[in-house]
Amino acid sequence: MPTVDELLARRARHLPRATSLHYDRPLHIVRGEGTYLIDADGTRYLDCINNVSHVGHANPRVAEAACRQMRVLNTNARFLYEQLFDYVERLTDLLPDPLSICFLVNSGSEANELALRIARAHSKRRGVVVLDGAYHGNTTSLIDISPYKFNGKGGEGRPPHVQIAATPDPYDGRFRGDASGADYAQDVADAFERAEQDGHPAGTFIAESLLGCAGQIDPPPGYLQAAYAAARAAGAVCIADEVQIGFGRMGTDFWGFQTVGQDVVPDIVTLGKPIGNGHPLGAVVTTPEIAESFATGMEYFNTYGGNPVSCVVGSAVLDVIEQDGLQEHARLVGERLARGFAELAQRHSVIGDMRGHGLFRGVALVTDRETHTPATSLARSLVQRLREDEQILLSLEGPGDNVLKLKPPMPFADSDADRLLEAIDRLLTAHTA
Ligand code: PMP
Repeated sequence: MPTVDELLARRARHLPRATSLHYDRPLHIVRGEGTYLIDADGTRYLDCINNVSHVGHANPRVAEAACRQMRVLNTNARFLYEQLFDYVERLTDLLPDPLSICFLVNSGSEANELALRIARAHSKRRGVVVLDGAYHGNTTSLIDISPYKFNGKGGEGRPPHVQIAATPDPYDGRFRGDASGADYAQDVADAFERAEQDGHPAGTFIAESLLGCAGQIDPPPGYLQAAYAAARAAGAVCIADEVQIGFGRMGTDFWGFQTVGQDVVPDIVTLGKPIGNGHPLGAVVTTPEIAESFATGMEYFNTYGGNPVSCVVGSAVLDVIEQDGLQEHARLVGERLARGFAELAQRHSVIGDMRGHGLFRGVALVTDRETHTPATSLARSLVQRLREDEQILLSLEGPGDNVLKLKPPMPFADSDADRLLEAIDRLLTAHTA
């Protein structure tokens, strides 16, 4: 077995420096199994990071479906094959009316890129309103609408056709304190107004209903309804980016916009990550009316999008979610985590805030509960100790790099939750001592 140093040397020769790794001393992972990742020494790590492996690492039902289909046929959607229709029928059945027209693609970035094109074709306006701290993907157009990137390291700042509305963060947002959903939504209305005045009218509002990269943000009640109302009043198309949060992770609902928005129906929904359990798959689902605006005469062709192998993988993922009751499971284990963290917060004052739903949660560590000052170095050392002393993988998020980001594979068990809570308790107790 090669050593980590040998692998790092090989990596340095052929991989770009712009890419990064988890941990200063990265892990050489050789196998995945359910909620565990196993390294070259045989150490089993509890994985709280990989929401992509939605129905569990190396899920045998998904692997078998893919292998079976690869032996029979893989081609593109210019031919007719039932696997495609079987899958898009099931997928669109999971979304509210009138979201019924589905484009299959190969990643979350591709989904958002296409959604942006569709929204622009429908609204006939190029400008976009985005939320501060958001990330929507790695293409040129998506870096342009991702403040997380264009205002981050190496970024070139906000492009003129993009306006930023405040992160609807009840804990640390711009309007702090008891600002309501309507207060934050007013900022969306103002962003559309600024777009108009700047001569770059906006026809798209794109948002994650709960924000991942911005720090696992759960907006205040009423926010999404009011934000969509503001966007629609300005004549814009509302895109819900469900790439991180969709497919039952919320527990109470299948989609994040349902949990946060209640009765909100986006104009376009974009899907990725969990949709294929690691197989490259993504989707854009929209209304017949909006899809019609995209039928300009220019053909939309995607070589791999909707290929039969991807379709059976997508169907197998839905089978497992259904057969194993993973949405309800996420609700129950999520509540157990919430109760556990609430209990820890009584004994550890570094826990400043807990938020999220189901198996998508954030825990903000602060040095001071009054000022909310991020406990960044403590958070970083906690993540390091969790890996070394407890064999638990966890990542950080948020502008202060102080939010513990929980988004494990959905089969995450009660015993996994307890193990995580006990480990954090032990490490925070040792830290205080
Ligand atoms: N949208 C969101 C909210 C994401 O978190 C990501 C990836 N982190 C993307 C889009 C892009 O997805 P992908 O990396 O599959 O292109």
